[in-house]
Amino acid sequence: MNKAIFWDLLGTLGGASRSLLTEDFQLFKQAIPALRAATQKGYLNIIVSNQSQIAHGLMSLEDFNAAFFKLLNFLHAQGVMITGVYVCPHRTEDNCICKKPQPYFIEQAINTYQLKRQFSYVIGDSWANDMVLAKNTGLNSILVLTGEGVNSLMVARENWQDAQPTHIAKDCLDALAYV
Ligand SMILES: [Zn+2]
Repeated sequence: MNKAIFWDLLGTLGGASRSLLTEDFQLFKQAIPALRAATQKGYLNIIVSNQSQIAHGLMSLEDFNAAFFKLLNFLHAQGVMITGVYVCPHRTEDNCICKKPQPYFIEQAINTYQLKRQFSYVIGDSWANDMVLAKNTGLNSILVLTGEGVNSLMVARENWQDAQPTHIAKDCLDALAYV
């Protein structure tokens, strides 16, 4: 039986929401323990990130890739297992099929890794992207209060009947207490 945690990146594992992933991106101190704990609990770690700044011309795909590979190499060197990464470089106006909260990447991963939905989670700080993504794919969800999480808690709460988080956690490591 395979199960996965679909991690949002910015605002969830490190950096600020809606910021650029640059070479000086810093993981939160809880991120590596959280990713290791997920592996210990039998989850595949999969990162799903919207990077519309690429389509908006705020950073080149080459610069993004360089920063992302640097991060993945660093995680690898720390003994962290990352099974998959999915990045949407588009902006809303592109009408692509892969931008969160659309289910495209997750459906792909579910097929590729034969994942069980009822045992898998989306963990992120954005209600509109991450919690709705979990709802659209039939996964569990955990809203973290880092990044724009507190804002999601305040602002999106009116819409929660549409996509209520399964749990709310202080940060990415606290989230592992619920899985
Ligand atoms: Zn896309």
